[in-house]
Formats: sequence, C-alpha cells, structure tokens
Amino acid sequence: MVTRSYGSKSLGVTIEIDHDKCEGAGDCAEICPAGVYEIVDEKSTATDVENCQGCCLCVDSCPVGAIKHSACG
Ligand code: SF4
Ligand code: SF4
Repeated sequence: MVTRSYGSKSLGVTIEIDHDKCEGAGDCAEICPAGVYEIVDEKSTATDVENCQGCCLCVDSCPVGAIKHSACG
C-alpha cells in the first residue's frame, strides 16, 4: 500500500492519502476551500496542509475513500 502522509504540527492535523486507491480526478482539490491539494502525476498530494481549515469536505468528496484526515471522523 502506498500511503502519503502530510502533517502540520502547528495545526495538529495529519492527512493521509492512499495512492493505490486515488484515481487522480481531483475532486478533493476542487472542493478544498484552502487550496491544500495538488494533483501530481495523477495522484492527490496535500502540499499545503498548513492552510487546512478542518472542514472535512475533502474526505467527503473522495469517491474511493482515499483520504484520511485526523480531524474528520
Ligand atoms: S479539511 Fe477542508 S480545508 Fe482541510 S484539506 Fe480537507 S477540504 Fe481542505
Ligand atoms: S478525490 Fe480521492 S480519488 Fe480523487 S484525486 Fe482526491 S484523493 Fe484521489
């Protein structure tokens, strides 16, 4: 399993993205109000995790359940 982990110590937030599941269509990147996500080589990356607002929209938007967010059940 290829999982990428992105953390912000100041926010106390960790985002994990399962790259085996990710289909790269970018729903997460489109819906995130903080511009946290970037699609790189057809996989989602949480490049700007420091900007996360904790809204959980990314988790809900992913059609394959590839995103785990420490603040989102
Ligand atoms: S929780 Fe909200 S602000 Fe944070 S990465 Fe997901 S969509 Fe963006
Ligand atoms: S919504 Fe899910 S499948 Fe789509 S790019 Fe984001 S992490 Fe990958």
